[in-house]
Amino acid sequence: MTGIHVLTTSVEETRALGARLGVLLDDGDVVLLHGDLGAGKTTLSQGIVTAGRPGIAVQSPTFTLVNQYAPAAGRPGMFHLDLYRLEGPDDLDSIGFNDLLAAGNGGMLVEWPERLGADLPDDYLLIQIEPTGPDSRRIELRAIPADGRHTRIIDALSAD
Ligand code: ADP
Ligand code: MG
Repeated sequence: MTGIHVLTTSVEETRALGARLGVLLDDGDVVLLHGDLGAGKTTLSQGIVTAGRPGIAVQSPTFTLVNQYAPAAGRPGMFHLDLYRLEGPDDLDSIGFNDLLAAGNGGMLVEWPERLGADLPDDYLLIQIEPTGPDSRRIELRAIPADGRHTRIIDALSAD
């Protein structure tokens, strides 16, 4: 299975989906989060990061571009990026994007991956969030490529 979609009707449900996903992420996994401002990318990321890190505050990396979370409770470390304010490839170099991507450094969550342009990784979990009402969201998850490492995540989520 390479793709599923989930409908959530509250912030809590979106965070809960994030937590289910968070426990499945390994070192080197990359999650690209598409959706307009206010779609719920940071909300979903909060659920992902707090899986194994209960009580931790997850702020949006809007101005810092990247926030780092150390490995915890058997979960790998995590980088949370928001590239909305990225100006170009030099900015990607300044945050050491390719080093962050190297396996062994943890998983990576990227808001506004459109800004990556040609620097898109080869293998990732694509998430697209669309508002369907004030408190409801359609969240689509797809493993790219279909035979890549992230397909196992879709399989596990659909078996839950
Ligand atoms: P983004 O990071 O995509 O810009 P945020 O996660 O920061 O978006 O904000 C999402 C906004 O949508 C918040 O104000 C949140 O309260 C609201 N919201 C309403 N319903 C939902 C839902 N089902 N899932 C996620 N966010 C929701
Ligand atoms: Mg955000």
